[in-house]
Amino acid sequence: MSFHVMLIPTLGCPGECNYCWSSEEKSPVMSIDTIKEVVEWLKNFKDDSVTFTFHGGEPLLAGADFYREALPMLAEGAKPKKVAFAIQTNLWKMTDEIAKIFAEYEIPIGSSLDGPKELNDFQRGEGYFEKTMRGYEIAKEHGLSVRFITTFTSHSEKFREEIFNFYLENGWTLKFHPALPSLRGNEPEKWALDPEEYGRLLIYLLDKYLENIDSIEVMNIDHLCKGVFSGRGAVCTFVDCMGDVLAIGPDGGIYPCYRFVGMPEYVMGNVRDNPGIEELSKSDAWKLMFDYKDYVDENCKDCSHIKYCRGGCPYNAITPTGGEIKDVDPHCISYKMILDEITERVNNEMFGGPSMEMDFFQNPMKPSKPGIMALMFKK
Ligand code: SF4
Ligand code: SF4
Repeated sequence: MSFHVMLIPTLGCPGECNYCWSSEEKSPVMSIDTIKEVVEWLKNFKDDSVTFTFHGGEPLLAGADFYREALPMLAEGAKPKKVAFAIQTNLWKMTDEIAKIFAEYEIPIGSSLDGPKELNDFQRGEGYFEKTMRGYEIAKEHGLSVRFITTFTSHSEKFREEIFNFYLENGWTLKFHPALPSLRGNEPEKWALDPEEYGRLLIYLLDKYLENIDSIEVMNIDHLCKGVFSGRGAVCTFVDCMGDVLAIGPDGGIYPCYRFVGMPEYVMGNVRDNPGIEELSKSDAWKLMFDYKDYVDENCKDCSHIKYCRGGCPYNAITPTGGEIKDVDPHCISYKMILDEITERVNNEMFGGPSMEMDFFQNPMKPSKPGIMALMFKK
């Protein structure tokens, strides 16, 4: 992972997804002056190449004028650092004007869709599917790359086959995450996906992926397999994200990650004060993140997956305990289930096992049916 700065132009969102944990209705929008301050702050902060991801809330609420000014400012201002952009949006507010600006910077779009219309709208609200698809069409017309992320909830995991087929039939890459307990409403656990159920879902999706290996890409499974092979996590959840990911809230506040934005107790500084790493590292939030790293080193030390799991996501770990480090990511159970499965299968494939006709070393490229090694060789 390169250095990642998440820009949160607003915490507002026009959507009303049932399990959402972050959106606020009337929320201020980041000013261009804050973008100028981000540029100044970054000049002396780190030399690494940087990826800016616009996230929210709903980042398109900032409007075309914001992006028209912000993008060149960030791209030019961060030089000689290599700069890349990305955005995570529900696409409702996508317009030709915004799409044109994004196309200039070849900004890949991540959006959210929980499966076929009925299922999606049941979870995300009536009309969501249509509004997102309208934005998707505009983005496509301008040649933008769009990938969807699906949230599997306690409800939608029962429709795992329909969801997988929906992505398969549309020729879309499948990326997903489990619903966490919501911080809104009075039934926080209602939509959350039980970790063991999530583990079973991961194994199911691994099998479905292998059955359809030439027709679909399942990003999470690719990342998990790559982690096992390379001994290093391929996404933020499975590396020590602290210090390599930072998020800037609408008012310029600096947080450890977009998931903390809006929670005053996690502010580490503000771009307007131009803080260096040394200053940020004195904040409680920075210390908490690094304490989590130490906690993982100690508490996961006997786990064979520690190198490419790293205790999962610190945010997931500390939110159930009100910000205290008392355990690792509650999805540890699911991670162990899928990582054990991948490791066992790959050992069978490489050293000969009942599921393979051929020993990997005899004929590595042609096992009797696609297995984990086939995912590794997949382009
Ligand atoms: S806190 Fe969690 S979501 Fe945020 S960067 Fe770290 S691992 Fe990723
Ligand atoms: S699978 Fe669980 S015990 Fe192992 S490293 Fe990950 S969080 Fe720690």
